[in-house]
Amino acid sequence: MYSEEHNIFRESFRNFVRTEITPHLDEWEGKGAIPRELWNRMGAEWYLCPWLPEEYGGSGADFLYSVIIAEELAKGGAVSFMTALHSDVIAPYIMRLGSDEQKRRWLPGTASGETVLAVAMTEPDTGSDLAGIKTRAERDGDHYVINGAKTFITNGIYADLVIVACRTDRNATGTKGLSLICVERDTPGFTRGRKLEKMGLRSSDTAELFFDDCRVPVGNLLGEENRGFYYLVEHLQQERIVCTVQAQAMAEKMLEMTLEYTRERKQFGKPICSFQHNAFKLAEMATDIQLGRCFIDSLVQKHLRQENVVNEASMAKAWICEMANRVAYQCVQLHGGYGFMDEYPISRYYRDIRIFPIFAGTTEIMKQIVAKNMGLL
Ligand SMILES: Cc1cc2nc3c(=O)[nH]c(=O)nc-3n(C[C@H](O)[C@H](O)[C@H](O)COP(=O)(O)OP(=O)(O)OC[C@H]3O[C@@H](n4cnc5c(N)ncnc54)[C@H](O)[C@@H]3O)c2cc1C
Repeated sequence: MYSEEHNIFRESFRNFVRTEITPHLDEWEGKGAIPRELWNRMGAEWYLCPWLPEEYGGSGADFLYSVIIAEELAKGGAVSFMTALHSDVIAPYIMRLGSDEQKRRWLPGTASGETVLAVAMTEPDTGSDLAGIKTRAERDGDHYVINGAKTFITNGIYADLVIVACRTDRNATGTKGLSLICVERDTPGFTRGRKLEKMGLRSSDTAELFFDDCRVPVGNLLGEENRGFYYLVEHLQQERIVCTVQAQAMAEKMLEMTLEYTRERKQFGKPICSFQHNAFKLAEMATDIQLGRCFIDSLVQKHLRQENVVNEASMAKAWICEMANRVAYQCVQLHGGYGFMDEYPISRYYRDIRIFPIFAGTTEIMKQIVAKNMGLL
C-alpha cells in the first residue's frame, strides 16, 4: 500500500515525533497544554493537511500521508496532540463545502498552523443524538445571531475557527434545519468556558464554548442552509477511519512495549513472558492486533478509492477501539505495579485509549449503524 516516498516521509515524521514531541509529553501533561507554537512548527514542516491542494498551502498528497501522521503520533504516545482532527476531519469540511472566498481565507492558515480548527457539535444535553442540537442561529440582515453552548470541544481553547452546528430553522425538528456556521476567534459574543480536566488526553485542550448573541456574517455559512446534518454524517466516515487508525497504532505500540518489558522483567527466576499464562495472553493480543491491522488496512484502501465504507468504518471503529482497550488493560496488568506508575508510558496509553470507544461516535452508536444496515433496527 505504501510507496518509497511514503516510507521516507514516515521516517522523517517519526524522527520529528521522537525528538520534538515524545520527550516533552510528561511536561505538557503536567501543564495541561501543548505549546501553541508546535502547530506552526508542524505547518512549517508540511505535517498539517498534507492533502490540501498546493493553491491552498498543502502539498496535494494522498490520504496515506494523513494515515502515516496519525499512526506515528499514536505510536509516539501523542494522541493528545489533535492535529488529525484539524487536518483530516475539519479542514475537509471547508475544502468540500466552502466557497472560493472561504477556502482562500481559511485554508492556507490551516495548512501553516496559523489557524487551528475545531468542530462543535456536542452540547451539554446533546451527544450521540445530534437531532437534539439546541444552539440557534437566527438571521438578522447580513448576520446570523448565535445563542447556545457547546461542550467537550477538542482544540476549543486554541481554535481560531470553529465550525458550529446550529439550528437555523426554528420550525424544523430532529435532524432537519441544522446548518454549519464558521465562528472566528474574537467574534463578539463568542467566549470559551473551562478547559476541561480529563482522565486521559491530559495535554489536549478540550473546552466549553458559549455563544451569547454572537453575530456572524452570513458569508460564514458553510454549504447550504439547513443541510448541516447531512454534511456532518457525510464527513463522519473519514473521522472514524482516522480515529481507528490511531487506536490500532496504539494497540501495536502497547504490545511492543509490553513484550520488551515482560522479556526483561524476571520473577521466580524467569522472564515473566515465559509463564504460559502470560505467553498465551501476549499471543492472543498479537492475534487480535493482527486482525485489526488487516481490517484497517483494507478499509483505508477502500477509502482511498473513495468507496462508501460507512458500515465497515463503523464496524472497525467499534471493534478496533474496544480491542485496543482490552490490550491496554492486559498490558498494564503485565507491567504489574510499574504499569500503574506515571513514569511508565503504558500508564499514559491506558488513560488515553479510554476515550476512543466514546468520541467520534460511541461503540453503541457504531453497532446501531451496523445493525440498521443489517435490517435489524
Ligand atoms: C475528549 C473528548 C473530545 C471530544 N471532542 C469533541 C469535538 O471536538 N467536537 C464535538 O462536537 N464533540 C466532541 N466530543 C464529544 C463526543 O463526541 C461525545 O462525548 C460522544 O459523541 C458521546 O456523547 P455523550 O458524551 O453526550 O454521551 P451520550 O450520548 O449521553 O451517551 C452515553 C452512553 O449512552 C449510550 N447511548 C446513547 N444512545 C444510545 C443508543 N441509542 N443505544 C445504545 N446506547 C446509547 C452511549 O453509547 C454511551 O455509552 C468529545 C468528547 C470527549 C470526551
